[in-house]
Amino acid sequence: MIPTQFDYEAPATLEEAVALLASDLDGAKVLAGGHSLIPAMKLRLAQPQMLVDIARIKSLSYIREEGDQILIGATTTHYEMESSDLLKTICPLLPACAASIGDVQVRNKGTIGGSIAHSDPAGDWPAAVLALDADLVLVGTSGERTVKAKDFFVDLLTTDLQPGEILREIRIKKPSGRFGHAYQKVPHPASGFAVVGVAVHLVLNDDGSCNSAGIGITGVGVKAYRANAVEAALAGSNLDDNALASAVAHVCDGVDPNADLYASSDYRCHLAQVHTRRAIQAAKAQVR
Ligand SMILES: Cc1cc2nc3c(=O)[nH]c(=O)nc-3n(C[C@H](O)[C@H](O)[C@H](O)COP(=O)(O)OP(=O)(O)OC[C@H]3O[C@@H](n4cnc5c(N)ncnc54)[C@H](O)[C@@H]3O)c2cc1C
Repeated sequence: MIPTQFDYEAPATLEEAVALLASDLDGAKVLAGGHSLIPAMKLRLAQPQMLVDIARIKSLSYIREEGDQILIGATTTHYEMESSDLLKTICPLLPACAASIGDVQVRNKGTIGGSIAHSDPAGDWPAAVLALDADLVLVGTSGERTVKAKDFFVDLLTTDLQPGEILREIRIKKPSGRFGHAYQKVPHPASGFAVVGVAVHLVLNDDGSCNSAGIGITGVGVKAYRANAVEAALAGSNLDDNALASAVAHVCDGVDPNADLYASSDYRCHLAQVHTRRAIQAAKAQVR
């Protein structure tokens, strides 16, 4: 199927993009990599009147350090995240997550901002930004606001973004102390999307016990979520087999796990437990 007819605008600046979106709050939509939006338009699940292409706004694509933070522009591609030497050194969870996304074509066009804004229940980036407790900077005609990742993902394909707003930047506090990262994913054999994806940011005390754990889960519920009960059970524990087994038993607490032809809800929850345990063990092995 081909999409319904639409206008196409390619603004040179973020300010122009915000103004274009404001000129048609119901009909205009942001276009970034197009790897989720264009398929939805071809299926006529989305029928925007106007596409505002932000991928050509050069100032929206960057990865840099500023003080104790890592700043990432919304149109930075999955491949740029995967291949960033800076991120490999200071925040390896992000390149690991990027490397697991789709195939080379998807990673070259798709953007971190597009994935977060789309909030696909099986998208990988939401799990990573939740585990890292990221701040998301949104901009609209009434100015800029910052939302915590844990408050951003609201429901299936639904976020806290308001009509006319653009996700401009992802801000992550530079990991410090004795930390380790891991991203574990069970990819769907046909689509490559996560049947289950687990992002872990683990910080250890000097004696090897768990200081804190940030754990983001995707693929299991209608939206990505933080496994708060697992994080609480791990804090202060010695991370031995018994501690891990009793902590990961809580990974689906408060969530109604998805069921489809590939994985029943029980199987999905079982996968989430197994891969959360493996991700924590892998993160522990990475502690510097
Ligand atoms: C074959 C295939 C395999 C894939 N496999 C995976 C996978 O394994 N894991 C995975 O996570 N994803 C996967 N994807 C999805 C891919 O990562 C997309 O790139 C991503 O979901 C959306 O990013 P995008 O830049 O393409 O956004 P677009 O498709 O351009 O936009 C998606 C939505 O977000 C909105 N939007 C985009 N950017 C912004 C912004 N900055 N501010 C506000 N709103 C915005 C758009 O209006 C639209 O509603 C796959 C896609 C394909 C086609």
